[in-house]
Amino acid sequence: MLIRKQDYQLIAEHAQKEAPNEACGALLGKHENEKIVVERVVKAKNIRESPVEYEISAEEILEIYRLAEVLELEVVGFYHSHPFHGPLWSTVDDERSKLWINHLFLIYSVAQKEARCYKRVAENRVEEEPIEIVE
Ligand SMILES: [Zn+2]
Repeated sequence: MLIRKQDYQLIAEHAQKEAPNEACGALLGKHENEKIVVERVVKAKNIRESPVEYEISAEEILEIYRLAEVLELEVVGFYHSHPFHGPLWSTVDDERSKLWINHLFLIYSVAQKEARCYKRVAENRVEEEPIEIVE
């Protein structure tokens, strides 16, 4: 996946600001020549207000889809932060994303100041998706 430096920075700042709780949001973009290009990062509210999990309300998910439509973009995935742990795929991340096939899940670690991205390729499988930060 390709993401602009300023958008990546926005995720990092959001994660920093919400710590010790997890921050979350959506990634809007498009598929271009087999690559997923993130065009817009949309912050969301973590209704769980928790340091170990996140949830975006159904209403806000709907708003995110409406915004994507207006911008002629797709909801290509979501991001969330891990305030105290590395950016590794967790059991909870796995359980909560099972139905989001073909979506990206970017995890930003506040503790390690680095991100990793995972793509749900099937209900029982995720693959790491390399992050390319572009200017
Ligand atoms: Zn997580």
